[in-house]
Amino acid sequence: MRQDVGENRTASDLCVKCGLCCNGALFDFGPLSDDEKDRVRDAGLTIIEKEGKTAFGLPCPCLKGAFCTVYEDRPQTCRTFRCSTLKALEAEMITYSEAEARIEQGVKALADLQAQLPANATPADARRWRREAGRAEAAKTLSASPMVMMALGLLDVVLDQYFRGTDQRQVMLRE
Ligand code: SF4
Ligand code: SF4
Repeated sequence: MRQDVGENRTASDLCVKCGLCCNGALFDFGPLSDDEKDRVRDAGLTIIEKEGKTAFGLPCPCLKGAFCTVYEDRPQTCRTFRCSTLKALEAEMITYSEAEARIEQGVKALADLQAQLPANATPADARRWRREAGRAEAAKTLSASPMVMMALGLLDVVLDQYFRGTDQRQVMLRE
């Protein structure tokens, strides 16, 4: 059922303008249960298996623009995930217009980061470089990219404030 979230709009109307939970801005991965692994792999997602846990990698290859191209086959975590802005909207704590404004900030902060990244690099790569800061083998790469670290920090401020829950601050998985 489509839930009306005000101004005659639905949550889907909002999400198709966003995609931050699918495009690697918010997370490096999404958890998967074992019984959906094969179906999700067949749908085209990238499976990650590490330390006995299964996940799919982000950015999701099934995202086109801000649309999910495997909507009927999407993992359970995609069906249930609600970012902080969507929860606030559904709880009528913010208006649809306010939610749109938050998304515009998040999308812009991601675009600003992408503009600083080398070709084919993702926010997950930038987060990994930040984790490696101070390690000798990473010093050369990091010293060449202070703008990347600044843009990543600004993106995290927006995402932590408006999209991640308190238990999801700067979530990361891949080394
Ligand atoms: S981050 Fe929130 S608003 Fe954006 S697509 Fe995901 S659930 Fe929807
Ligand atoms: S399967 Fe669909 S909803 Fe899930 S991360 Fe990929 S594009 Fe997003």
